[in-house]
Amino acid sequence: MPITVVGSIAYDAVKTPFGERERMLGGAAVHFALAASFFDEVRVVGPVGEDFGESEIDVLRRRGVGVADIERIAGGKTFFWRGEYGWDLNSRETLDTQLGVFEGFEPKLSDQSRESEVLFLANIQPGLQRDVREQMPDARFVALDSMNLWIDIARDELVDAIERVDCLILNDAELRQLTGRPNLVSAAREILNWKASGAGGSAGEGAGGRGPSVIVAKQGEYGAALVTAERFFALPAYPLETVIDPTGAGDTFAGGFVGYIAAHSDHELTDDLLRRAMAHGTALASFNVEEFGTERIERLEGEEISARVRELSEITSFSGAPLARLRG
Ligand code: AMP
Repeated sequence: MPITVVGSIAYDAVKTPFGERERMLGGAAVHFALAASFFDEVRVVGPVGEDFGESEIDVLRRRGVGVADIERIAGGKTFFWRGEYGWDLNSRETLDTQLGVFEGFEPKLSDQSRESEVLFLANIQPGLQRDVREQMPDARFVALDSMNLWIDIARDELVDAIERVDCLILNDAELRQLTGRPNLVSAAREILNWKASGAGGSAGEGAGGRGPSVIVAKQGEYGAALVTAERFFALPAYPLETVIDPTGAGDTFAGGFVGYIAAHSDHELTDDLLRRAMAHGTALASFNVEEFGTERIERLEGEEISARVRELSEITSFSGAPLARLRG
């Protein structure tokens, strides 16, 4: 089932202990789209500036991603982000964010993008996420990602957008920040109760009163956890010895996770399906961090993903046989 994604399309400047890139292709929607393209048809919605190269759009085209709704704004500047990582790559500092063409952008989805039954609202201003959500009231599965910046400066808008989706994918620290709850499971459980009132909401019939039923907490090198009303599941990250650049790992995870769900959307959204989606997201993210930006995913083959998912299954399985006798 085709997927539409809106989110940043960017130039990133990134410094890690292993090197740096001054101006590489990035953006949440780009990382997501490349990952999800292994599973289903993807259509990207978002603006770029006059400075955005055709060769960057070709990276998406080569993976079969639909780029008709990437709008080039005359005289505009592409979204720009600069970040630097600490020595263990767990800490990241944002040094610069320039919204550029995203400021004042009004998305107009083509009929084709609007017809996708799966929608991913990748990280960008929550008002824009809500705007795109409103243009796709009948989407069957809608997921949303965000970040601390928007919790800091646009929390009400963000909560409003979250209340209109089925699935929230957020870093664990951001889940805590968003809810003010120090415990991850209780933070996730609180959000599972958020629902758009419907009354006064203009997202249309399909979105009113829905609210998230799936919460994914991204935990960086420690993996990701899944919380639903009934169940909990967690996977560690794939154990790599060398990580070069974590930029976009979260979006690449989301691309694998949502992509897998979209490719199986004729199935019910069971716990089993969600767990397999987690494994595919985890595998995709592990490739992303092996090189800078989109470099590794651009060369990735489907069979490599399957092999890593099999390894993850082995790494995380254990026998449930209880000890014959427990003391105490
Ligand atoms: P991740 O490492 O998964 O958190 O995502 C990194 C990507 O997010 C980079 O490619 C950036 O271009 C993009 N990004 C960083 N800050 C923002 C922001 N405030 N809004 C949207 N995208 C952002």
